[in-house]
Amino acid sequence: MTKICSSESFDVRFPTSTMLDGSDAMNADPDYSAAYLRLKTDSTISGDSLVFTIGRGNELQIAAINILAQKVIGLNLDDALTNIGSIAKELSSDSQLRWLGPDKGVFHMAAGAVLNALWDLFSKEKNLPLWKFLSDMSPEQTVEAIDFRYISDAMTPVQALEILNRQTENKSKNEAFLLSNGVSAYTTTPGWLGYSDEKMLALTQNALDDGFSLIKYKCGKSLVDDRRRLSKIRELVGPDFPIAIDANQVWDVDLAISWVNSLREFNLRWIEEPTHPDDVLGHARIAREVSPTPVATGEMASSRIIFKQLLQSKAISVMQIDASRVAGVNENLANVLMAAKFNVPVCPHAGGVGLCEMVQHIAMWDSVAVSGPHQERVVEYVDHLHEHFVEPVRMSAGRYMPPQLPGAGAHMHQSSIDEFLFPSGEYWKNGVNK
Ligand SMILES: [Mg+2]
Repeated sequence: MTKICSSESFDVRFPTSTMLDGSDAMNADPDYSAAYLRLKTDSTISGDSLVFTIGRGNELQIAAINILAQKVIGLNLDDALTNIGSIAKELSSDSQLRWLGPDKGVFHMAAGAVLNALWDLFSKEKNLPLWKFLSDMSPEQTVEAIDFRYISDAMTPVQALEILNRQTENKSKNEAFLLSNGVSAYTTTPGWLGYSDEKMLALTQNALDDGFSLIKYKCGKSLVDDRRRLSKIRELVGPDFPIAIDANQVWDVDLAISWVNSLREFNLRWIEEPTHPDDVLGHARIAREVSPTPVATGEMASSRIIFKQLLQSKAISVMQIDASRVAGVNENLANVLMAAKFNVPVCPHAGGVGLCEMVQHIAMWDSVAVSGPHQERVVEYVDHLHEHFVEPVRMSAGRYMPPQLPGAGAHMHQSSIDEFLFPSGEYWKNGVNK
């Protein structure tokens, strides 16, 4: 029986700011970083997970992870799987640490790191990729893993079971479809705000050639620039190819409405993060007043409770879960099931470092066990930093193909951890940039 013996953590930072990769209207110079957790066991497997940050403050995230990881040391994996719902509640309920949340921010993401490392261990022990491990779970087991506190007014355990039971007889057919076709992807690679028009258009052409079904561009700093960029993009991709824009929260509500409406001629698939992620009523008003342009958000929605309100108030037409923003796989099971109840497609946020590798498993579970294969689901893809992972994402004709190795996706090469460890790794020690 495999037992968790100890934990270790690593502050890993990649110098992406030097190339303006990841630059948008809010985040001018991110250094994509991982607050990386490893749960060590008395067997050969380890539970690996990470919280994505964009540089400064990664050490705070690590400190929170180190505190919460202590709560699972000594557990054996069979007991941990049986009690995973209670463990999730316990990680979010520590009577003193809860003051530093609750259910949001650094400690909530730390709970996610611990839970994701546990799911990594569960699936590695069964020799399955996480998407398959989750898809094989019974509806009852899945519901047991979810913390329904504060969402039962929107979805009860019985309703969650009903949603899962609807797909039970389709699961093997859905899995066969997934294995042949993967899940559809869209790309943000051409769209960073710091790129020149020439670079943006060349990368757009590459994305078209690669078969992506949608391309997303950063916007929101200058309306003149947005109009110029979108005109050039439409000229290249044609009037009907789906394009979306992402403001990364830079606008107040009134400005969001006027800005998006003045771009209506560009036939946008969605406007993403038009305002602050906590402003549910603001999103609802924006959704009403920029209609028919759909509103998307979620990469910084701190919990299932925010998602619940976004869905209840019809504030979003596209729900964008993130693998490391909320409390791990458990909370994303709840998020995806709530979206199914409200009939809103889940188009996960990814990019950063490791987010594609992690969140694809949730999208694939959704496609097998929750909402099935459908056209509206597109998973974000950004072509950065995949080489650092033991199993990098596998793309084919603009689609994510299912991972095959056991685990939840975040397992990074030790050589990458060592090189980019901050501040003592080989890269940073040499003082090239910071
Ligand atoms: Mg975004």
